[in-house]
Amino acid sequence: MRLLAIFAHPDDESFFCAGTLAKYASQGHEVYLICATRGEQGRIRHPTLDPSLYPKGEALGRLREEELKAACQILGLRPPIFLGYQDSGYPLEVAQANPQGFMHQNLEQVERVLLEHIAHLKPQVIIGFDPQGFYGHADHIHLHRATLGAFWRAGNVMSAPPKRLFFPVRLRERVAQTRFDPDRYGVSACSVAVRVDVRPYAQTIKAAVLAHASQAGPEENFPQVLQDWPGLLEEETFVLGGLRGAFPAMPVDDLEA
Ligand SMILES: [Zn+2]
Repeated sequence: MRLLAIFAHPDDESFFCAGTLAKYASQGHEVYLICATRGEQGRIRHPTLDPSLYPKGEALGRLREEELKAACQILGLRPPIFLGYQDSGYPLEVAQANPQGFMHQNLEQVERVLLEHIAHLKPQVIIGFDPQGFYGHADHIHLHRATLGAFWRAGNVMSAPPKRLFFPVRLRERVAQTRFDPDRYGVSACSVAVRVDVRPYAQTIKAAVLAHASQAGPEENFPQVLQDWPGLLEEETFVLGGLRGAFPAMPVDDLEA
């Protein structure tokens, strides 16, 4: 199988579905990652990284590019493909005030860029953002729209278009353990199509998250990361975003089932 994950910032892949990506890579599947931006607007959380050396913008983007390359190696993925858009920033007010940001880029054009990569890589399965962007980041939501469009438009230009599009999501009960609103960002267990037990990959997930040192902080802070991301090392859940062909009774434990 060829699996393509499409995310917006370095670290999205490690927080949202690192275990699943690592699982398929370890089974010998080709796993690709497209990253729309270099995360130039992230906030540095590592005490030994001086933010003045990596001001928001290009310098921070270069640092985060290297962090993502390291995370991809840990997860067994191919080197990341950067689309070169600019991180809009978070929360929404910051993103709206940044006209260079990804959320302001023409949706049709982003969709076309994704479609070119999909036609070239020929994935059978794509993983991308859900309509709420996991927790509402404007870049995630923008990329969701482009990914959804590209998944369906692939049917116009490819003889074997991707069969399945999945969105990593969190169950309501999980979101209720965080600062986010479970009614907005959580899904009910009955809508989950795939549940992946990622406990065998716990150390790999942790290493990938920590490879994003600027964002995750030092290893001593990992218990705090786990508080913000309950279930990070236990289970990853996906809903179906698009389907060509049949799908078995949900939930299954395999993206290919
Ligand atoms: Zn992100």
